[in-house]
Amino acid sequence: MIFILQIEIDEDKCIACGNCYDICPKAAKIWKIGKVAKILDLRYCHVCTLCAMECPVDCIKIIREPPKY
Ligand code: SF4
Ligand code: SF4
Repeated sequence: MIFILQIEIDEDKCIACGNCYDICPKAAKIWKIGKVAKILDLRYCHVCTLCAMECPVDCIKIIREPPKY
């Protein structure tokens, strides 16, 4: 079954520390750190959840939903 993946970043909480980028195995394809962290392309994400675990302000939410038929 293919799950729908979303990563939500609470931009009000993000402090642009770059931890999510540093820990992510595919960071260059997935993350861009500017004033806040942004997702570029989730096709490369293998849902290891390391980014969410390393975020010091707990502002990354990984959502996996089964498709709605
Ligand atoms: S879940 Fe893993 S692969 Fe996906 S963005 Fe986070 S650290 Fe990168
Ligand atoms: S780890 Fe969290 S606070 Fe740091 S840049 Fe990433 S989303 Fe923002």
